[in-house]
Amino acid sequence: MQTNFTLAQLADPDIKEADKILRACVHCGFCTATCPTYVLLGDELDSPRGRIYLIKDMLEKGRPADARTVKHIDRCLSCLSCMTTCPSGVHYMHLVDHARTHIEETYTRPPFERALRRMLGAVLPRPGLFRLALVGAMLAKPFARMLPARLGAMLRLAPSGLPSPSQSSVPRVHPAEGETRLRVALLTGCAQQVLSPQINEATIRVLTRHGCEVTVAEGAGCCGALTHHLGQEEPARAMARANIAAWSALYDGRGPDRIIVNASGCGTMVKDYGFMFRSNPEWADRAARVSAAARDISEVLSELGLKAPARTGMVVAYQSACSLQHGQKVTKEPKALLTAAGFTVKDIPEAHLCCGSAGTYNLLQPEIAAQLRDRKVANIESVAPDVIASGNIGCMTQIAGGTRIPVVHTVELLDWATGGPMPEALAGR
Ligand code: SF4
Ligand code: SF4
Repeated sequence: MQTNFTLAQLADPDIKEADKILRACVHCGFCTATCPTYVLLGDELDSPRGRIYLIKDMLEKGRPADARTVKHIDRCLSCLSCMTTCPSGVHYMHLVDHARTHIEETYTRPPFERALRRMLGAVLPRPGLFRLALVGAMLAKPFARMLPARLGAMLRLAPSGLPSPSQSSVPRVHPAEGETRLRVALLTGCAQQVLSPQINEATIRVLTRHGCEVTVAEGAGCCGALTHHLGQEEPARAMARANIAAWSALYDGRGPDRIIVNASGCGTMVKDYGFMFRSNPEWADRAARVSAAARDISEVLSELGLKAPARTGMVVAYQSACSLQHGQKVTKEPKALLTAAGFTVKDIPEAHLCCGSAGTYNLLQPEIAAQLRDRKVANIESVAPDVIASGNIGCMTQIAGGTRIPVVHTVELLDWATGGPMPEALAGR
């Protein structure tokens, strides 16, 4: 694609990067066929190619974002299916991230929208505040029908109960069982530890059982992805810096052997810290080291090899989270581990399509998100599994809202198969 940035514009490293990405696009349109919003809405401007044109026009003219551009960029899930399909290697993720920041800096949204996005950016990354907000939402849930459509849809997503806070998120070192094979840091995250603390508990058990010393580092917290995808760049960078500083200081400044992430949306973000801080001399080296050490839990368990798994024979539908399959290109490991652990793993049709969760997307675009969820659930139910496994809390919550089949994290099944307790969601089955 030909671009027309001025030399002055290209002096900005972010515009230079956007120019490089735009020039790689050859307008072929292959990406449209696998884009969930284009598949649903059939509008070129809701396809990757259409959005790329909108972003090009906005950045080249150096103008504030307009309502049309905002509408179509907001409808993008950042699922990155287009990046998997693109034959030219267009780095759509960095382009749309840039566009979201530009929109946040130059566009004034209607007051309700502005307040909602600020509230989500402030509450979701802070487990204490998020817990309080969920308690409020649970109390208000019976009145959801009387509230404006958007608020009502958000309340319906609130769970009907909350687990007690878990010790697994408290900073400490969990020693390895037997010989220490790796010293790892675990990202305990934000929303996940409130909604499903059993995921971190299972992760710590399975890692220590496989010879890992697991550190939950003081000062580490939310990865910043939720605010990053809202275009709130400075808070996202502050969270990233806190994590980089906390992990880099471990083991007398040598850092851990691996940084383990068990929410794939967060994994994509941590693996991108190096890019995020590439132009910052104070943080670039440490950020690059953190990104190089980051692993999805399925990657590190594949590296270690599963220990004496029990045979269960249960049929698992593996739902490949977009951030894992498209964002991190981790596709084989979770299925191979589940198979090695004795489960019968079923692929689901249209596995490349997003379930509609996408960070805060199901809160901000509830109609499209609900259509995608129903399509995903129908595809999953078509293979009649006993249980659904996913590697991302967002997908788990979204899918669980549309089916009676139990939904668990992949690591819960791997922990169970190698000596841990049966996942609570499977009790009585
Ligand atoms: S990230 Fe997903 S929703 Fe956005 S343009 Fe790409 S394929 Fe479409
Ligand atoms: S597939 Fe790649 S090169 Fe083709 S239009 Fe989409 S982004 Fe551009």
